[in-house]
Amino acid sequence: MSNTTQISEELKQLYTSMGLSDEVQALGEEAEEALAGRFQEIDRVARFNQMKVLKAMQECRVAEQHFATSTGYGYNDDGRDTLEKVYAKTFHTEDALVRAQITCGTHALHLALAANLRPGDELYSPVGKPYDTLEEVIGIRPSTCSLAEYGVTYAQTDLLPDGSFDWENIRRSINERTKVVTIQRSKGYDSRPTLSVDRIGELIHFIKEIKPDVIVMVDNCYGEFIETREPSDVGADMVVGSLIKNPGGGLAPVGGYIAGRKDCIERCAYRLTSPGLGKEVGASLGLNQTFFQGLFLAPVVSAGALKGAVFAAYIYEKLGFKVIPGSGESRHDIIQAVELKTPEGLKAFCKGIQMAAPVDSFVVPEPWAMPGYDSEVIMAAGAFVQGSSIELSADGPLRPPYTVFFQGGLTWEHARFGILMSVQQMKEAGLI
Ligand SMILES: *Cc1c(COP(=O)(O)O)cnc(C)c1O
Repeated sequence: MSNTTQISEELKQLYTSMGLSDEVQALGEEAEEALAGRFQEIDRVARFNQMKVLKAMQECRVAEQHFATSTGYGYNDDGRDTLEKVYAKTFHTEDALVRAQITCGTHALHLALAANLRPGDELYSPVGKPYDTLEEVIGIRPSTCSLAEYGVTYAQTDLLPDGSFDWENIRRSINERTKVVTIQRSKGYDSRPTLSVDRIGELIHFIKEIKPDVIVMVDNCYGEFIETREPSDVGADMVVGSLIKNPGGGLAPVGGYIAGRKDCIERCAYRLTSPGLGKEVGASLGLNQTFFQGLFLAPVVSAGALKGAVFAAYIYEKLGFKVIPGSGESRHDIIQAVELKTPEGLKAFCKGIQMAAPVDSFVVPEPWAMPGYDSEVIMAAGAFVQGSSIELSADGPLRPPYTVFFQGGLTWEHARFGILMSVQQMKEAGLI
């Protein structure tokens, strides 16, 4: 027996012992073969982005001393300051704010908006409703301390039914009070298409022709390192995201980033800490090395998650489910939606993902009435970092068409296994 054959045999037995039937294993093999060309393309993007990050680190002369920590005020934290320079170089921006004190993606987005909008200004979204948590930030749903409470108004133009930009209404909506334009790259948990960097660039160009001094912020969550360029390469003044998604590489235990124009970032720093203090304070609390290393791994980790998303799309499409995006479509984020048609399907899918987790694999996810949602929600996550969605995870509201949103996988090998486990659970529940 050749070595390759022997490894394949051993792997087959291992999969069997972990619950995958021969039939489901074969489905995985077939999908992987069919997707070989696609995966090669993903690897090429990862290779480019790996070099981009490496070059940024070398140019900033990252050294062991930058892994030292600070406590208290965090004055003169050279590691933290160098990390921010590396982010700025990676995103090709003048400056960046990368902090553990930014608690999550929503916080980073709020910071970028609150710092750059003043009473009387208007915030404008040309791409429809923003991510759920932003509704309270903006005050679309009334909330204490929302931007609306501080006299910032909000306007939006929806995408046209075919997903294209509504150029006429966008032109009409931009007025003398429009100060910040917010563009969400990822569809998030919506059914609209995710925007490519090219399309974002086209939109920014159009907007800046109408009003050159407007500040364009892009919610970059889930989109980092999926293409070779980022929205900051096509005119965005700020790109914003969470470190427990793509750019933390699965290692960052907390944090958020904003990369962009120097004056915008300065305002963000003053808003995060205090006027007069800005970037000078904010202890790194031992996280510098993890943030550097996570960013270094991020291109490859994000590529693994992307392969998982394409793999899931291919398999579930083949099994007769509607998947968004389709397996042949181009990708601009790591989220995959599958319409599972029944509550049993949604539960079985999540059960399989949970069974594949490295942490809490022995628990069975149950739907619960999560605050802020109008129906019960089920979530599967067995992550090293709480709520980390660059790790293998799935969730969805228990209402028709019972769509699951699937993302992550720190390695392609793990994402692959998780998806096949979800198929196995669907089979065992008699749903496919
Ligand atoms: C995750 C996400 C957010 C918010 O991030 P949290 O870290 O959950 O607060 C905002 N926008 C988009 C598109 C996201 O995917």
